[in-house]
Amino acid sequence: MFENLSDRLSGVFERLTKQGALSDEDVKTALREVRVALLEADVSLPVARAFVKAVQDKATGQAVTKSVTPGQQVVKIVHDELVHVLSGDDANPGEMKIDNPPAPILMVGLQGSGKTTTTAKLARRLSQRNGKRVLMASLDVNRPAAMEQLAILGQQIGVDTLPIVKGQTPVQIATRAKQQAALGGYDVYMLDTAGRLHIDDVLMDEVQSVRDVVKPRETLLVVDGLTGQDAVNVAQEFDGKIGVSGVVLTRMDGDGRGGAALSMRAITGKPIKFVGLGEKMDALEEFHPDRIAGRILG
Ligand code: GDP
Repeated sequence: MFENLSDRLSGVFERLTKQGALSDEDVKTALREVRVALLEADVSLPVARAFVKAVQDKATGQAVTKSVTPGQQVVKIVHDELVHVLSGDDANPGEMKIDNPPAPILMVGLQGSGKTTTTAKLARRLSQRNGKRVLMASLDVNRPAAMEQLAILGQQIGVDTLPIVKGQTPVQIATRAKQQAALGGYDVYMLDTAGRLHIDDVLMDEVQSVRDVVKPRETLLVVDGLTGQDAVNVAQEFDGKIGVSGVVLTRMDGDGRGGAALSMRAITGKPIKFVGLGEKMDALEEFHPDRIAGRILG
């Protein structure tokens, strides 16, 4: 992820750091190139504009251009601004609020976004890394295959799934999961809601009813990172209707651009908590804005 953006920016900054003295004009020229690079990475226009303006405000003027290493100072300002746009200055965006067992986690998103896979990846992580006892349940009553998929993944990763009972509504399954989680001494129960190809009212009503019954501690929206700005639009819609606490961007292993990651926080105000980096169960990483900024700047 971010390879193209990283290549472009390293070109710009190489030229800048090679130069000894810098004028305000040199900085402006470099930042124009940064803006183009951001737009080519599919960062949304208002975010790219605000980004460049923030860097420009900090980088032009005596302190930077008259310093001994002006180019490096500019790179540092860009780095800090990248961290800011990625995290909104939240020190730990990947943190999960899952104290007070059993903590419900609601997984939402469009069909095909990677929701079921991500549910299992996260369950595995919580169980193996954090030592939590996790119960997973699929609420996708329209697609029996989706329920079976979760059960199979559960077996693979050694995480329990709620037994499938035919004919129940999503709210009934969620209620059963809640009871089972309490009775069985689970720390966390994860509800994999049904997805649709597009956002529709039936889907939203269904997820809202489930949300009202379980009162999730975390509502994680899973979006396909390859869809760029669409991912950000989907997040805005889900957040408006359901209220999400964080975002998981999937398929970031296939994305050389990364614009969705860079626009998500600034536009939706919601933190990216995790990124999916492949189909395997261990291909889920916590989102670290400082590491990502470092990766982008090479
Ligand atoms: P759902 O319909 O949203 O539940 O989507 P699934 O979880 O069934 O995932 C759809 C496809 O995307 C599956 O083939 C997954 O293996 C794949 N997938 C999910 N997450 C990732 C990811 O981070 N990277 C890649 N390359 N594939 C993923």
